[in-house]
Amino acid sequence: MKIRIIGGGPAGLCFAALLKRDDPAHDIVIHDRGPRGATWGFGVVFSDRALEFLRADDEAMFQLLSPHMETWPNLTIVHNDTRIPIAGNGFAAIGRQQLLSLLYAHVEDLGVRIEFESPIDSFSDRDKLGGADLIVVANGAASFLRKQNELRLGTSCDWRTNKFIWYGTSRVFDSLSLTFRQTEHGVFCAHHYRYSPSRSTFLVEVEEETWKRADFEHLSPEGAIAHCERVFAKDLGGHPILSNNSQWRNFPAIWNERWSFDNVVLVGDALRTAHFSIGSGTRLAMEDAIALSKALREKGSIPEALAHFQELRLPPMKKIWDAANVSARWYERMGEIMKLDPVEFAYSYMTRTGRVDHAEVRRRDPGLAEAYERLHPGENAA
Ligand SMILES: Cc1cc2nc3c(=O)[nH]c(=O)nc-3n(C[C@H](O)[C@H](O)[C@H](O)COP(=O)(O)OP(=O)(O)OC[C@H]3O[C@@H](n4cnc5c(N)ncnc54)[C@H](O)[C@@H]3O)c2cc1C
Repeated sequence: MKIRIIGGGPAGLCFAALLKRDDPAHDIVIHDRGPRGATWGFGVVFSDRALEFLRADDEAMFQLLSPHMETWPNLTIVHNDTRIPIAGNGFAAIGRQQLLSLLYAHVEDLGVRIEFESPIDSFSDRDKLGGADLIVVANGAASFLRKQNELRLGTSCDWRTNKFIWYGTSRVFDSLSLTFRQTEHGVFCAHHYRYSPSRSTFLVEVEEETWKRADFEHLSPEGAIAHCERVFAKDLGGHPILSNNSQWRNFPAIWNERWSFDNVVLVGDALRTAHFSIGSGTRLAMEDAIALSKALREKGSIPEALAHFQELRLPPMKKIWDAANVSARWYERMGEIMKLDPVEFAYSYMTRTGRVDHAEVRRRDPGLAEAYERLHPGENAA
């Protein structure tokens, strides 16, 4: 098969690796608009469960990535100055740049060609796409190719109201942490975790009103960093916040009713985005690649395989997508929720998507369940 992949992020790279592994005779080229080694962001996080799925579906990929991951067994909620460690929530993280470098080397070893600085903005680009049996659109949330075909695909894009900015820091944290600090402008949240021995992701999220009151609209990039460093001074311990073209953004919750047309199929963030607060975007991108390669293996023709891909993938993906949207909305009310006592706040965080009930909180962290029961006697009698 002649396969052309638009976008060399986790979705496109994993898909290329899986197909080439299935049949080395496939002619696969990935076109990415960026130069090799250019990437935004810092580290990305995977939950233990996400890694289990990856291991079950693609042991080779798991073995490739896991030695380069930072791992820890707990998460910590910081409610102003109260720290609440919560057991039973294992996570692993890896730098995005490192993740991509490992994947580039892996697919190139398998015989896939990656063309960098090779943007594709139209399906009629005969030079790059001509004669392809299958075109995989894996070019991320802002995919222009998807936008050009919204009616066909039944695309919806719901811009969420919170503002976030993806920073890093040289402070290395000992667990995945969510720090919420009340300021005179409103609540600031940092999602922070170590992703290498010397770096952590430090993503700052605020409600829109807080962002306006703090006047981020008019602050320079240096001014915004200085402001966040002041808010999180106790958490940064004298370390600086680092920028990597970091900009304030709103999160687009993207969905498509139809995932393919003709010989074109969407995967990864181009297909759907999942709010970063559940740490699943990269996992979902990889799982799309796994499901699409499985569908192609199981069906005899491309149209059948593309229909089968959507059938296979829709139920598990929709569950996570729904949970991610509920989680995003929880952060949009964090100013209100911060008024809770720290234990209640941590409990609210744990149960925010409805996928974790009291019994599950108890299983993961009996201490938190008991502390909550003391505040709410009789509410969750076992
Ligand atoms: C702030 C933030 C924090 C996040 N945190 C996490 C996290 O902790 N854990 C997690 O799992 N996920 C996280 N994610 C999500 C994760 O980064 C994405 O879900 C994941 O990268 C999606 O992979 P992808 O391959 O679909 O797209 P991308 O990684 O976006 O890759 C798309 C590729 O397509 C290329 N491209 C774009 N347009 C074109 C074009 N016209 N022609 C050719 N190439 C093109 C780009 O250069 C890019 O290399 C986060 C996202 C954000 C925004």
